[in-house]
Amino acid sequence: MPTGPNAVRVTERPLLEIFHLKKHYPITQGLLKRTVGYVKAVDDVSLTLYEGQTLGLVGESGSGKTTLAHSVMRGIDPTAGSVIFHDQERGAVDVASADRATLRHVRRNMQMVFQDPFSSLNPRMTVLDIIAEPLEVNAIATGKEAQERVAELLQLVGLRPEYMRRYPHAFSGGQRQRIVVARALALNPRLVLMDEPTSALDVSIQAQTLNLLKELQDRLHLSYLFISHDLGVVEHVSDVVAVMYVGRVVEIAPTHKLYQQPKHPYTEALLSSIPKPDPTRKKQRIAITGEIPNPANPPTGCHFHPRCPYAQALCSREAPPLREITPGQFAACHFSEDLNLKGVNDF
Ligand code: SF4
Repeated sequence: MPTGPNAVRVTERPLLEIFHLKKHYPITQGLLKRTVGYVKAVDDVSLTLYEGQTLGLVGESGSGKTTLAHSVMRGIDPTAGSVIFHDQERGAVDVASADRATLRHVRRNMQMVFQDPFSSLNPRMTVLDIIAEPLEVNAIATGKEAQERVAELLQLVGLRPEYMRRYPHAFSGGQRQRIVVARALALNPRLVLMDEPTSALDVSIQAQTLNLLKELQDRLHLSYLFISHDLGVVEHVSDVVAVMYVGRVVEIAPTHKLYQQPKHPYTEALLSSIPKPDPTRKKQRIAITGEIPNPANPPTGCHFHPRCPYAQALCSREAPPLREITPGQFAACHFSEDLNLKGVNDF
């Protein structure tokens, strides 16, 4: 079986392998709803996540990150490609084509944490009911047993078990996100997909939440697919980072390499926009002009060419393939080897 273009392996065992995943939404017109085009939200993405690893997925909003995560969970059906989850009991399962029973089983091992802890908790349920729900639905524990497991989970995320009879409104944003994490961990998953898990939180609370996620990863041997538009946050938690642009991965590399020696101009521009803590340091931000293109009508050739300061004639004609530029570092740019791009510390 082929493997995706990742180089850092916390273990040698892949947990999730995404092959040529596509999610295209048809654009229809007229009474007969004739298909006149497609929105290519995810367009031929291949990635591998190893056990115990955090794979960070970055890009501007509209780059396809969230659609990719929902396709991995089968919250939406992918148009093409496969999503292989290596299940301890059932072996390699293709989530993209699995039947309902298999999907139900695999989903216990794959959980998702969303951005907004305010809307992802039912305000009419107590914390006990919220965290115990997946245990009861999956017939794992009820009554006293479920209550004991909820107490254990609350302690695990740094909350006091006596809070379990309270409702979500009694908690701060950071505490609510801990409740969301406790619920996601209720079924002992191996993979947690996090979609902007800290972006609704204050900066000081963000740091605490990120530290908690790292602690939990070490203790429970979790793997994370961590989605964020914030490159500072992604650097803090990820072993490997993939940069997405208009539905495609344009660069993927071990975190240190990608931040110090990027090989794609889009990565360089994103790195230049990370805020610096030192106000005396002069910042030379690379301004990317224009908006991220509409995935229904992306530019020809390299999708980044209208915004790229290094674009040449070839760029609008031919789409660059994702290829290995340095060991373990892949980029989709015709001129990666010739460009001397700046790393995060050069701005
Ligand atoms: Fe820029 Fe051309 Fe490289 Fe695309 S292929 S990133 S337009 S230099």
